[in-house]
Amino acid sequence: MEGIREAAQAIAAETVALRRDFHQHPELAFQEVRTSGIVADYLRALGLPVRTGLGQTGVVAVLAGAKPGRTVLARADMDALPVHEERDVPYRSLSDGKMHACGHDGHTAVLLSVAKLLTAQRQALAGTVVFIFQPAEEIVGGAEAMLKDGALEGFKPDAAIGLHLSSDHPTGTVAVRPGPAMAATDSYRITVAGKGGHAALPHQAIDPIAISAQLVVGLQQLVARETDPADQAVISITAIHGGTAYNIIPELVELKGTLRTFKPETRSYLQSRLSETVSSLAASFRGQAELFWRSSSPAVVNDPAMTARLRAVAVGALGQEPIEHAPIMGGDDMALWLAQAPGCYFFVGARHEAAGIDKPHHHPQFDLDEASLPIAVELLARGILDYLR
Ligand SMILES: [Zn+2]
Ligand SMILES: [Zn+2]
Repeated sequence: MEGIREAAQAIAAETVALRRDFHQHPELAFQEVRTSGIVADYLRALGLPVRTGLGQTGVVAVLAGAKPGRTVLARADMDALPVHEERDVPYRSLSDGKMHACGHDGHTAVLLSVAKLLTAQRQALAGTVVFIFQPAEEIVGGAEAMLKDGALEGFKPDAAIGLHLSSDHPTGTVAVRPGPAMAATDSYRITVAGKGGHAALPHQAIDPIAISAQLVVGLQQLVARETDPADQAVISITAIHGGTAYNIIPELVELKGTLRTFKPETRSYLQSRLSETVSSLAASFRGQAELFWRSSSPAVVNDPAMTARLRAVAVGALGQEPIEHAPIMGGDDMALWLAQAPGCYFFVGARHEAAGIDKPHHHPQFDLDEASLPIAVELLARGILDYLR
């Protein structure tokens, strides 16, 4: 693997230029038309076969090495967020209200650079690399849409790999966790039906607002009293809509929220108990409530062997052990690619406090330390080569 660092550094200016171009032209989930067009053109120019329009804007390119071997899938996400950029930089977003506030511009630039670097090594390469550029990570839908459109048709990946640049960790560090690393993210909508009436005559009505208040408190019992304290789960109610005036009891209230879990059994248990508790608690106060699920991504689970490989690669590249991060209650639909093959999803530090690059992801002043980009290219390229060796 000698020469990978030099090769990553040699194209660093191009990686940065790609990132800045994507940063200036952010596109929201499933609208990554310009971005995916540039991605496809770049990959075609490398001489790789490219498929486009998978899951609307997803792109897949395949690098077949000169020698037979295993198949590894490498994934980047391309979407931006509906955030108005507040950082005054030369590459500031040109679309008001849209911003690459999570670093996916960097992910796309990094994976393109990895494709370039590995394509140059094709003669020495044993095996196949499938490059996945997915839309709509932020709304947890892009991976599923690409898989539905047959993104992996004709392939049986033996391993999956991906990275997220991170403003939580300084440049030059890696954070990774074997096993469950990021939570399953499910959301739900609850309708609470009562009987409208005069606020002064509650006994003639059935008050869905009072029932909703019981639900908000009561649902926490499922975490506090029905979930193993050594396991982790979060139930959040994030929206309540109902009512119009101070003297009217409304007919209907709608609530929204999210469930975060790590273990599949905890996830399915809490899903069924949430539905049961919602309807039975409402019924006990004479109302009717129903819960509608939107299941999205399962938990991100890193294969222990793949994680150990990645750790060794990081030590080789950076000269220090990666940080083992705590389980993250946020989710990522990298989980669906990891469900295709054992793999590893890791964080590459991109924080530079002295330069003011220390804001959390999704913050209007978020930014990436661009010195992290060639490091990410090196780590990802080395991770892929290490697996195919
Ligand atoms: Zn994000
Ligand atoms: Zn992200």
